[in-house]
Amino acid sequence: MVRKVLIVEDEPDIARLVQSHLRDIGCEADIAGDGATATELFAQGGYELVVLDLMLPDSDGLTLCRTFREQGGYVPILMLTAKTTELDRVLGLEVGADDYLTKPFSVPELMARIKALFRRVEAVQQSALAEPDSPESIEWGDLRIDSARRRVTVAGSEVELTAREFELLQFFASNPGRVFSRVQLLDRVWGYNHDGYEHTVNSHINRLRSKIEQDPSNPRYVLTVWGVGYKFADRVN
Ligand code: CA
Repeated sequence: MVRKVLIVEDEPDIARLVQSHLRDIGCEADIAGDGATATELFAQGGYELVVLDLMLPDSDGLTLCRTFREQGGYVPILMLTAKTTELDRVLGLEVGADDYLTKPFSVPELMARIKALFRRVEAVQQSALAEPDSPESIEWGDLRIDSARRRVTVAGSEVELTAREFELLQFFASNPGRVFSRVQLLDRVWGYNHDGYEHTVNSHINRLRSKIEQDPSNPRYVLTVWGVGYKFADRVN
């Protein structure tokens, strides 16, 4: 099966390098060197992944990422960024990239991230196929997680989560009371584990808490286990 990938990158050497490595894993990648071309190509559809550079000559990756998200459908977006100061916006709901790498990046690491995103999409598609009319839901205190529709409500109000925040919450809520280290969470929720990315887990947990907890500094659902990691409450008071 050939997967179509859109590479949005204005540096031709990087774009072609990524394109040739994608070809090695059976992907057909188109290159857009600016935002206008990227928007045009994306609108034609059929892409299963977008590799998106943050800094483009006529646009920026954050704007493009939002545009792609607004066009609906779930296409994972991996952002390339040299500006770590933008990370909160890149990963947050405002933009909602599924993953990111900071430049300069290593090609093996980029490919590992891309494969992990493909695996996630497959898992989501399979679970949707497996239970088309029996939505599994988890209820915990005020929190309700509808796995089939990927919706979360707190006390009846819908909470908007990014794809990764949803997966993190669902993973926790499926394993109440079990303690997971940051490395384990990277492995289970992100599908890869690289040294130095533990802070990614912390920032996702902080954002998740700010959305689902009444008092994020005194959480009821996602609890910190000092010196070890995190766990989902095994009972809610
Ligand atoms: Ca650039």
